[in-house]
Amino acid sequence: MDEIKAMLLQEKENIIADILKTQEHMPKDHDIGDEIDSSVEDQERKLMLLLQDREREKLEKIERALIRIENNDYGECEECGEPISPKRLMIVPFARLCINCKQEEERTSGVYSREDMEGSLRYMEE
Ligand SMILES: [Zn+2]
Repeated sequence: MDEIKAMLLQEKENIIADILKTQEHMPKDHDIGDEIDSSVEDQERKLMLLLQDREREKLEKIERALIRIENNDYGECEECGEPISPKRLMIVPFARLCINCKQEEERTSGVYSREDMEGSLRYMEE
């Protein structure tokens, strides 16, 4: 459990560092060129905001997992209450659902989250 907590904290630091890095590279407002330049800048800005949204979402998941560790209910499936397999937690440390419920959710919603998809791919290789 300590190992997973350390992993989550490390991941959190990485994401925060990434967000800070992205912000540094944000196009500056004072540099307003001609129309073409500013539209390119707009696109870059949108892309970065999108990236940040995704990172923020991940950060929230990690925060939630850390809170659950503190509350001692980490590692339980939020859907069926069964323990999530330690193997899955090592791959997706902020997983909220066990692999069965996750697959069920993906089947019914048709939504795949990238990190969980990577996780299940690695799962199959084992
Ligand atoms: Zn479950």
